[in-house]
Amino acid sequence: MTAASGDETGGSAAGYMGEPGADGRFGEFGGMFVPETLVPACQELDRAFRSAWGDPAFRGELDRLLHSYAGRPSPITECENLSQELGLRLLLKREDLNHTGSHKINNVLGQALLAQRMGKTSLVAETGAGQHGVATATAAALFGMDCVVYMGTVDIARQELNVFRMRLLGAEVRAAESGSRTLKDAVNEAMRHWVAVADTTHYCLGSVMGPHPYPWMVREFQRIIGAEARRQCAEILDGSVPDVVVAAVGGGSNAAGIFAGFADTSARLVGVEPAGGAAVGRAVPGIVHGSRSYLMQDEWGQVLEAQSISAGLDYPGVGPEHSHLAVTGRAVYEQVTDAEVIEAFSLLSRTEGIIPALECAHALAWVSRSRAELAGLTVLLNLSGRGDKDVDQMMGILG
Ligand SMILES: *Cc1c(COP(=O)(O)O)cnc(C)c1O
Repeated sequence: MTAASGDETGGSAAGYMGEPGADGRFGEFGGMFVPETLVPACQELDRAFRSAWGDPAFRGELDRLLHSYAGRPSPITECENLSQELGLRLLLKREDLNHTGSHKINNVLGQALLAQRMGKTSLVAETGAGQHGVATATAAALFGMDCVVYMGTVDIARQELNVFRMRLLGAEVRAAESGSRTLKDAVNEAMRHWVAVADTTHYCLGSVMGPHPYPWMVREFQRIIGAEARRQCAEILDGSVPDVVVAAVGGGSNAAGIFAGFADTSARLVGVEPAGGAAVGRAVPGIVHGSRSYLMQDEWGQVLEAQSISAGLDYPGVGPEHSHLAVTGRAVYEQVTDAEVIEAFSLLSRTEGIIPALECAHALAWVSRSRAELAGLTVLLNLSGRGDKDVDQMMGILG
């Protein structure tokens, strides 16, 4: 393993998951590949985030919101039944218990508070399945801001309930009609919107992707998951850390958040992608949505559609820091099939009384499949969200 060190490689003193280099890079990945008209907005955001993140008043206000509004800290649940069945020790970090049902609220509250500090009065966001759109609309309602959410017309038709939620929360949902009319097109539209109104509007991006400073900033807002888990594990495990920390990877924000708490330890870090959306698995670098990372593309460099049972993981790219963690070997990325995910979804429901979101069922599917290799080990799994949003779809499959 080549240990990253220094600013150029995106490492902190401890080696990983520190500040990116001056050019916004994690090793060879990341950067700020945006139209000239967006460069000032990205630079303004970089300056504002640096100043806020170093300001105890900002950090205190965010902590207060995460506690009193989002319900943090989220607990760790020791799965006694399932541990026995799998022959290992399984701990769940319960992000499913947060307000709005997933880890997304951590990032959105951070960005909304930052937008307010920057004097912005509006938020614009992209959404795929609608979870990030709902979280952004929630924060906009709380902060009294206007909110526009771009969503592909295909997704609007598939996710009626979340479209209604966003409208109920006071957001305007706008259809992205270009390309495949899904998440990647919604990101394009949201960026186009932002260029025109950046003086009044903050672009609230939903994962550790996009141009600098987003991959870094969103990871820092999600770091709370790993920081809490590190402390909680020390208590449960007599001062030590889990052998394995595992999370599902779409854009990679919940994984980055929990990995950040353990990057400087001996814990194995495992990200799990859907077989039909394995950006890291395919390991072909390219530039999309403002940064260089691995992405799914055809021989002409056209971005491919991701395909998975879980709409929240249907993103053809992955955050640049994950590409860096993969190249350096600090984290490994595995793939699971839809069939394995369906099995894991039922397994956790039946054995522990916890219905998981299909996204984090990917992480459990890998644990379940790897039980022989993981025998006797302590595994911390980031349960990124609750499965309420998925029961309709699963009823169709499981009957
Ligand atoms: C959106 C979502 C994900 C995928 O996004 P990441 O940025 O990869 O974390 C995972 N789990 C849940 C519950 C989600 O809503």
